[in-house]
Order: sequence, then structure tokens, then C-alpha cells
Amino acid sequence: MMRKISRQITFNSKVDKIPTVGTAISTKLTKLSIETVRDLLFHFPVRYEDTRKIQKVRDYLVQGSGTIMLTITQIKKYYTPRRKMVIVDATGTDGQDFINLRWYNQAYITSTIKPGNKYLFDGKLSIKYRDYHITNPQFEAVRTNSIENLVHLGRIMPIYPETKGISSKRIRSILVKLKTLIREITPETLSKKILSKENLISLPDALYKIHFPEDQQDIDIARERLGFEELYNIQKNIRILKQSQTELHSQPMSNFETLPGFVKNLPYNLTKAQKKATTEILADMKQSIPMHRILTGDVGSGKTVVAIAAMIRAFENGYSSIIMAPTTILARQHYSTIREYLSDKYPITLVTGGSSINIDPSSSQFIVGTHALLHRTNQLPKIGLLIIDEQHRFGVKQRARIASVKDLDDNVPHYLIMSATPIPRTLALSLYGNLEISYLDEMPEGRIPVKTILATEDKRDQIYSWILQKIQDGNAQGDLQQLIIICPLISDSEVLQSKAAESVYADIDNSIFSVLRRGLIHGRMKEQEKQAVLNQFAQGGLDILVATPVIEVGIDIPNATMMMIENSERFGLAQLHQLRGRIGRRQKQAYCFLFASSETADVTERLGFFSKNSDGLKVAEYDLERRGPGEVYGTAQSGIPDLKIASLMDTALMKRARDAAFTLQ
Ligand code: ADP
Ligand code: MG
Repeated sequence: MMRKISRQITFNSKVDKIPTVGTAISTKLTKLSIETVRDLLFHFPVRYEDTRKIQKVRDYLVQGSGTIMLTITQIKKYYTPRRKMVIVDATGTDGQDFINLRWYNQAYITSTIKPGNKYLFDGKLSIKYRDYHITNPQFEAVRTNSIENLVHLGRIMPIYPETKGISSKRIRSILVKLKTLIREITPETLSKKILSKENLISLPDALYKIHFPEDQQDIDIARERLGFEELYNIQKNIRILKQSQTELHSQPMSNFETLPGFVKNLPYNLTKAQKKATTEILADMKQSIPMHRILTGDVGSGKTVVAIAAMIRAFENGYSSIIMAPTTILARQHYSTIREYLSDKYPITLVTGGSSINIDPSSSQFIVGTHALLHRTNQLPKIGLLIIDEQHRFGVKQRARIASVKDLDDNVPHYLIMSATPIPRTLALSLYGNLEISYLDEMPEGRIPVKTILATEDKRDQIYSWILQKIQDGNAQGDLQQLIIICPLISDSEVLQSKAAESVYADIDNSIFSVLRRGLIHGRMKEQEKQAVLNQFAQGGLDILVATPVIEVGIDIPNATMMMIENSERFGLAQLHQLRGRIGRRQKQAYCFLFASSETADVTERLGFFSKNSDGLKVAEYDLERRGPGEVYGTAQSGIPDLKIASLMDTALMKRARDAAFTLQ
């Protein structure tokens, strides 16, 4: 009967079909996103413990850890004085020597482990004075004399991600019920061609081996196969997306061959990287399939002027262009920058949530705004170019809207995305694989890297006086030097974060900075209030700006030459780099002081690296190695796929997956 039931289990069965899995367990499993047999089989071990080697007591005592097989000779339970804790003490033998075992607060052990029976134990030896025992060992009964079919010990034991009420041990016990079925019920998902060309094992084999490996090689080839498929699926989607992009139509903008005349009138020369990017963009815009390009470059690398060149090209061809920023403040800033760059003969319009638009739909325009624009595209004149700044800060819905902008003849605009988030090229292949990439990997001439200083608490007073002096000297000489104080990152809650900023702001009253003019900006203020404070700061009406870490990315305040970051150890380096990018935009030495409330070796090393490196890409790579892409860029917004087993940083496997997705199928 039992047999028959298990036969009915399929890959897509609910987990409660598995013997011993009732509703209580299956409810808990959903917390691990496990609902079906398939989900369970794709719940991969985070690591393994090799418990195959069974030691003699003698060797165990030397080793201090590992697995041993013992016959229990005695076991008893007792309470510590005042009955605070229950302790189970047992003794076992391997036939030659004896050893003691001890469990704390696990009273049930005496009803599970029986004298006379044989068990495998795995745990650490603890030695206090002359008292030797294995503390809280894991164990498993050895029923026959062989350890062949054990669920936990005596094998390469997988350790799984757990949740309350579902331990690794439980997961192993459930999986063992499927052991003989896995190969039977698992379908293949990759083509024969790919399997043989890439020399990969089948999915049934891989799922079997990942849960029941016999040696390290089993784990390796299972991981390779499963990881490959994850990356392959990403690349396949990219291929499909890329394909569908080529089926769209855009207006080709081929009028005017060379760089727009305005480039010649700039007060500076474009960097080589800016010229290259501009040429690439203008070449794309000549095509009748839409441009899908991302322009990435560190903060201050000069993306705006490249964007303006593209907008002018659209204008010359009789089309409007939109540049869209994630916040009103940034949109305003783009607006005023573009006004500064372009003479009055160009029509420039700002559209934000609050403002109404009144654009002559028959004339081409430079339109600057926020996502408020997305609701009005039908009121706008023909849009030939859509530029999106800091795309990762737009929500999923907004991004979908961006992708669906069309004119009445079904033409889509050329797309240009701008990003200041440094992303190594190989990683960009999977994140932006459907986009062409232009890199501004060079800073404008004469830019002096920010001096970054690890500031210890005992130097705080000294640093404050130094900063105060600089600000006061600056004010006296009419050469403004301003300070931004970034308050500690405390939580995702805007309320708490804003409160932290308020308290840092209030603390200034008790410091020597109390003689300076200061302002505060945080997330709970109204857009207009924020704008007012920023304007005041930008125009030199304030000496100090206290800000939350989300201080508008991309904001350009030329006289801010100093920054203090509190609790800098709480930030990722990529984030610190973004913050540091707010200062030092002029040809003047800027200073960034990192205060840290912990000085562990790790913190000092990390921040030390950061203080010595001003290249965003280097900083990002260092950060990625230590924390992985999900942590560095955030999975929710950046479009970083949530991978179970592969690593986005596995360049070699990614390349194989990409080649296969683009050429095999
Ligand atoms: P980001 O890439 O961070 O958006 P911006 O476009 O805001 O950078 O440019 C930063 C500053 O550098 C601006 O003040 C801009 O005028 C200036 N800039 C841009 N390109 C150059 C260049 N080639 N030479 C000198 N200064 C430049
Ligand atoms: Mg910018």
C-alpha cells in the first residue's frame, strides 16, 4: 500500500504527498518557499559536512571533532541545582575505549537513545579539567551493522537553509523518502545538444547528486550543471529581449554627421571617453531599430553633457527628447544644467508631479522631468529619444511604463539609460545583457581625487577645529567651503532614519560647529522643504548640511568640499563611494572623514581600502568579492537575479551560458 502511494508522487506533487509530511510540516515548508516536490529538490544545501570517516575513540580524542560509532552503555538525565537546566549524560564504547557524551536542555534524548543500541555521533570534544565529553552531538541510530543507508551521518551530510520548525535534519529525513524516486520523476530541462556540447550531467542526476553526493566530485558536477542552467536561463531571456528589441521601429536620426556644434562651444574639451560614448550613441540613433544603450560612469565623469549631445541630435532631426530623473530635485538640477549649456533658442520644459504642462505638440522640445511624465506621453510632441537617469531607482511599474512609450505610428523612442553605479564588465553582461554599454572610464582633466581619512574618535575634536577653520577662512575670503554630514545608516525605516538625522543635527548645538549656519534634509520633509534647504545650501546660505544617507544621488553642489560620514562601517563600500561622490566636483581638494564606531580588523581593512582607492569600479569589485552582487546593489530594485546556486561573478560559467543561449538552443 505504502508503495503505491509513493509511486503517485510526481515532480509537481504537493509536498504533503510525501510520506511523513503532514499539514503542519508542509505549512512550515512554505516559509522556505517549498510547496512542491520540485521546490524541495531545488532547495539546495548551503554546505556539506563530511561524516564518512568513522573514527575510533582514540583518534577522536586526538582530533577533537568528527564522527564516531558507539554502543551506548549508560544514559541518565538530571537537573542542575535549582533545576535551571536539564543535562543528559551518556557513556558509549567502540569496543575498545569509552567516551562520555553530554547534552544540555535536550531532555528528550533519554527517550531516543537507549543503552545497548549502536549510534553514530558527530560533535566537538569539550575538555574541562579532567572531564572529557562530546557536547551536544548530532546522532543517528545504526540499525543494521552497516552504515550504508543512513540519513544523516556516515555520509557527506548536506546542510540546508532552515526555518523555524524545519531543521536541516528534518529536510534530510524528508528528502530520503524521495531518494529512490528522484531520478525517476525529474524531467530534463536542457536540450541534448547543450548537455553534450557543454558536457553536463542530466537534471535527474544533478538533483540526485546535490542531495546525495558520494564524493566531492558529485557535488562539483551537480553544481556545475545546476548553476549553468540558472545562468543559461538569464541569458536566454536576454536573447529573447534583445530579439524583440530588434523588431521595434524607431525614427532614424541621421541628419548632421559630426558631433553637434555645441560640443565645440563648451568651456572644456570632452574626455576621450565622452567623445567615444557620444559617437556610439549618435551612431545608434541613426538606425531605425531603437537604441538600447546604457551610459555608465562614475559620479562626476560627465554623463550629462553626453546626454545633451544626444538630445540636440534628436532636436536637429525634428524630434523631442525626454530626460527623466527619479526625483524632483534631480529633475530640477538637470533642467538648470541643460539651460546653462544651451542657448535660449532651444525650447526646454520642466515637468514634475506638481507642475502642469503646456507644450505645443507640433514643435520639438527638450523635456526634463520625473516619472510624472509617463502619464502624459500622449500630450507630448513626437518623442524620438528617452533618457533615463539612475534607472534602478525607478519602480518596476514605472520601468514597464517606460518600456511601453510609443507614438501614434507605433514608433518607440531611442533609449539611453544613465547610471553612476559602477558595474564590472562581466557582471554587466548578465544585468544589462540586452543593452549596449558605453563606459565613461576616465575623469575630466584636473579633477583631484577626494582625500579620504579614517577618523578615530579621539581625533574628533581636532578634526572639528580643522573643518571649522577651513569653513571660516573660506567665508572670510569669499571662497566657500561647505560641509556635508551624513548621519548613520540605521534602518530601512524612513521615520527612524529621519529621527537619527534630527538628532545629529541637534547635537551640533553642543559642538564648536554651533557658530556655523546649518541645515537639515531628510526623507520625511516635503519635497518643497527639501528643495528650499538644498537651494540655500547650493547658494552658499548654509555652511553645514546634515543629511540622511539617501541624500539625493547625483546632486551637484560645487562648494561642498568636505564630508563627514558617521558610523561609516555600516555602509557598503559601493554606497560610501556614491556618498563621497557628492563632494570634490571642483578643481579643489576635497576631504571625506569616515567615523566608525567599531575598529575591528575587518572594518579597518575595508575602510582602509576605500580610503586609498578613488576608482568606483575598483571599489565595487572589492565590495562584490566580499558581499556578492545582491548585497552590493540590492536585489529588489537593481534587477539582480536571485540565484540559488550559481554566482553572477562566475565569469567562466557565465560566458559558457551566454554562448550557449545565443548560439545553441
Ligand atoms: P555625472 O557623470 O556624475 O552626471 P556631470 O555630468 O554632473 O557628472 O558632470 C560633473 C561636472 O563635470 C559638471 O560640473 C560638468 O560641467 C563637468 N564636466 C563634464 N565634462 C567635463 C570635461 N570633459 N572637462 C571638464 N569638466 C567637465
Ligand atoms: Mg549625473
